Amino acid sequence: MSEQKHEHEIVMIGMVNVNRDNYLQGTVDVWRCRGCKKLFCDDRRYGEPLKPGVGFEEIGEDEQWAILTCTNIKEVFVLSLGVKPGKKILHTCKNGTAHEFVVKDDWTIARDDGETVHRLFLVKDNVNKVIEAGFYKLRMLG
Ligand SMILES: [Zn+2]
Ligand SMILES: [Zn+2]
Repeated sequence: MSEQKHEHEIVMIGMVNVNRDNYLQGTVDVWRCRGCKKLFCDDRRYGEPLKPGVGFEEIGEDEQWAILTCTNIKEVFVLSLGVKPGKKILHTCKNGTAHEFVVKDDWTIARDDGETVHRLFLVKDNVNKVIEAGFYKLRMLG
């Protein structure tokens, strides 16, 4: 079988905003290929200029784009990454604490709440929505 290599034709379809108690803390731009409908994500840090849409990272065929939020009492750190059930996520908080999360079958991560609170959100469920990742909000919501 000869397969022609697919050239992605990527257009921006929206963004996911991550708030900390109503203050914008991070934005992930969401792009999609017109052909294969694959998603691509690009973390935009607040205050940094928009990067040109080149060099998109690809995730595995069986993976989904997700956003890991790392929340402490003062701020929220936002990171987009490819995940799938059973996948290990290695993450180090700003304060140097290393964590290892395993993605569960429902595409969330096991709770490991202490000084920082971590949650995983699927990008496809949150395009053009706001994730509220404030410390108290996340803890209240359980
Ligand atoms: Zn494509
Ligand atoms: Zn963290």
